[in-house]
Amino acid sequence: MFRPHRKRAPGGPRFGSTPTAISRNCLDSALACARSSYPKEFGGILRSEEPGLITDLLLLPGTTSGTRHANFQLYMLPVDLGVMGTIHSHPSGALHPSDADLMLFRHWGRRHLIVGYPFGAGSWRAYDGNGEETHLAVRGTVAGPAELALPVYRPPTGRLPDSAGASPLPDDAE
Ligand code: ZN
Repeated sequence: MFRPHRKRAPGGPRFGSTPTAISRNCLDSALACARSSYPKEFGGILRSEEPGLITDLLLLPGTTSGTRHANFQLYMLPVDLGVMGTIHSHPSGALHPSDADLMLFRHWGRRHLIVGYPFGAGSWRAYDGNGEETHLAVRGTVAGPAELALPVYRPPTGRLPDSAGASPLPDDAE
């Protein structure tokens, strides 16, 4: 029997349960996608790799977008219990769902995010399957310069480093 192995803390949320948080990484990726799609809409699928936490942003093949809509081809969804809902952008800046959004939210998914122009850190709202605004915590830290810095490669110089206090070589004249 196939039993997918998932990380799960004892007593913690079960895999497939409604997420209560989104990773900073995932949210930042979505905001970046929305910015690069502007002035068109951006649409993606939210997935939980960890129970209770949205971790992944999936781009569905066949998703089309214009300035007023992003159409998902939901038959392209992976068969996956971790798929939690949708995220899409509103180039207008509005953070509330349109009538068409409400139809989508009620049709499918547990959590749906709307991100609005200018797609800053606070330019988003989360909704449940009834289109009611809901709280979603953001987990993780903003990648700081320390995390972004790569280790610096220093090529070997071909000689030993100068060591302070080392005795000088005997002078040839002696
Ligand atoms: Zn919308």
